[in-house]
Amino acid sequence: MDAAPNCAICNAPAYPECPCESERLQIAVKQAEARAMDSRLAEIRDWVISHARKHILNAFERLTSTRKQAHAAYLASLPNYSIYMQYSGHPPLHPFLLGQLQAQISEAHAELKRGIDADWRASVVRYPEVLDYFYSLVEVRLPSDRAQGVSQPPFAVSGYVDKGYELSTTTKEKKKSRRDRDASSPPERDRRSRREPTKEDHSYTVVGRTRVPPMVPTPPIQPGNMRR
Ligand SMILES: [Zn+2]
Repeated sequence: MDAAPNCAICNAPAYPECPCESERLQIAVKQAEARAMDSRLAEIRDWVISHARKHILNAFERLTSTRKQAHAAYLASLPNYSIYMQYSGHPPLHPFLLGQLQAQISEAHAELKRGIDADWRASVVRYPEVLDYFYSLVEVRLPSDRAQGVSQPPFAVSGYVDKGYELSTTTKEKKKSRRDRDASSPPERDRRSRREPTKEDHSYTVVGRTRVPPMVPTPPIQPGNMRR
């Protein structure tokens, strides 16, 4: 006899499989993900952007500062430049010399401006690389399966009692092997499996679909449909 429970949504028999449960699960996962991750992702994004921007601006400042020093050194090296500055741009020079100097100064200023523009472009095009770098510093950590919060989630404390999961002692060995298998693979792999902390060993057990469904339904898991 096939004791697999009917679809929790439309009550159709377990086989052939209807898409209701996996569709609801996908919705539930999207919603849970948004609740859990949206604000954290926004925080990470702000952090990455602010550090990338600071780095780009600092690098640009260093480039332009070197360029401005070279520019100042070049101007100081021009003949008559000091007297030109001393007379605030109106030195008592022959008009030909003055015109020549003004042209050199003007060209140097234009060259500095072109250089600064190029420095800025070169800095800004590095954003993808710099953003990648700062994103790479962000750690996303999954807890160990042995962590207490994972092996003993506090649902029972808050009134969530997984009734209907009772296991007979005759299935202990099976239970253990299923649990071991579950520990080594993502939970989605265990089709419609459910977990509960047992009173004896406070570890997880996995119960297949042949068990009585829980009083409080959890989102059923159908990896085949999830991978579509
Ligand atoms: Zn259905």
